[in-house]
Amino acid sequence: MKPVIALVGRPNVGKSTLFNRLTKSRDAIVADFAGLTRDRHYGQGKQGKHEYIVIDTGGFEPDASSGIFKEMAKQTQQAVAEADVVIFVVDARAGVSAQDHEIAKYLRRLSKPCLLVANKAEGMLESPQLSEFYELGLGQVYPVSAAHGQGMRSLVDLALEPL
Ligand code: GDP
Ligand code: MG
Repeated sequence: MKPVIALVGRPNVGKSTLFNRLTKSRDAIVADFAGLTRDRHYGQGKQGKHEYIVIDTGGFEPDASSGIFKEMAKQTQQAVAEADVVIFVVDARAGVSAQDHEIAKYLRRLSKPCLLVANKAEGMLESPQLSEFYELGLGQVYPVSAAHGQGMRSLVDLALEPL
């Protein structure tokens, strides 16, 4: 079984852009992997020697009864439960938000490897602004740019090598 990577984070940080970068084919594979549910967005990818499954989250319609936050939390929890490793995506340009803190609090309690990734970091890979993400308590922050394809290879290496 290929390792499963879950992409979690608040809306608009670039999870789906990162998902598209990390995967070549989508959705067709779900039937081949027992235990994966169908209501999320799966893809498979290969970088260097690594082959893996990626789960995107957040592709949902917020409905008035449950609300976007409840639905987001549910999707995050389900994806995390299925994953071998979690990539927590934050927005390097926007900085730390209250929602980031909420998600970080949840992820810190898990005994799953979790990689903190600051997306949209093109042109600011060395920026001291990134250091504010250390306050999320998830260790080192790894800058990437999903839109520009920067940091992808090392991201997959970092995520999968400890497994
Ligand atoms: P999601 O809601 O977390 O899935 O975020 P999306 O992947 O839909 O991206 C949200 C917005 O951020 C879109 O307008 C993307 O084009 C933009 N975006 C995604 N990745 C990057 C990046 O690396 N750099 C910049 N500048 N924008 C990005
Ligand atoms: Mg998305």
